[in-house]
Amino acid sequence: MNELTPTFTLDGKTVPFEPGQTILQAAMDAGHYLPYLCYHPDLKPHGSCKVCSVKIGQQMVSSCTTAAQQGLVVESDTHQLKEERRIVIQMLFVEGNHFCPSCEKSGNCQLQAIAYDMQMRSPHYPQFFPNRSVDASHPDFLLDTNRCILCSLCVRASRDIDGKNVFGLSGRGINTRLTVNAASGKLGDTDFSADDKAAHVCPVGAILPKRKGFIVPIGQRTYDDKPISQFTALERKGN
Ligand code: SF4
Repeated sequence: MNELTPTFTLDGKTVPFEPGQTILQAAMDAGHYLPYLCYHPDLKPHGSCKVCSVKIGQQMVSSCTTAAQQGLVVESDTHQLKEERRIVIQMLFVEGNHFCPSCEKSGNCQLQAIAYDMQMRSPHYPQFFPNRSVDASHPDFLLDTNRCILCSLCVRASRDIDGKNVFGLSGRGINTRLTVNAASGKLGDTDFSADDKAAHVCPVGAILPKRKGFIVPIGQRTYDDKPISQFTALERKGN
């Protein structure tokens, strides 16, 4: 960093950035942790999950979609923001069906890892127990929408990188659902494949490869070793 490098502050610490970077990108590059679920470094940010929210003055903004600017004073490590994020995570747990002990993604799941990192011990709110589909029609992948948090990463990856539009979101509000682009509504009737970027971006256990279950034992998975907040930007690439 030289004296011409633009900077902002995050919780009082100076963060340098390159023009065009968002607050989240610059913060991660400088070694600071901000939680997120709907962001992926290879995809255009969406700003929908609100987990990466920070405060600038009196305004709450998504750090993944807000451009870094010289002299910004950004807050993240405040009681209010931690509570807001905790509520978002708790709501995600109750509006789907997340049974971590029986999920193959356990230990590799970002939702679970963020909840642990927040010291969340219960979802607090009553469970919705929605009626969601499990689609095992594809030869190589299981699609379990019980665990889908509607982050749209698979939608964006399939559309913007794979050029396939395999996935979409339909409905509004609490009725929003992940859909598959086939008349039958079955993943097995699409051209989805293991080479697709969309096959590798799901932050939870909604899109899972078949015949890989428990190859890596519980206890030896990504977030079993250390909390997600201690991962570097490079380590978090795709995680
Ligand atoms: S299936 Fe996974 S990647 Fe796709 S919207 Fe749901 S949680 Fe996000």
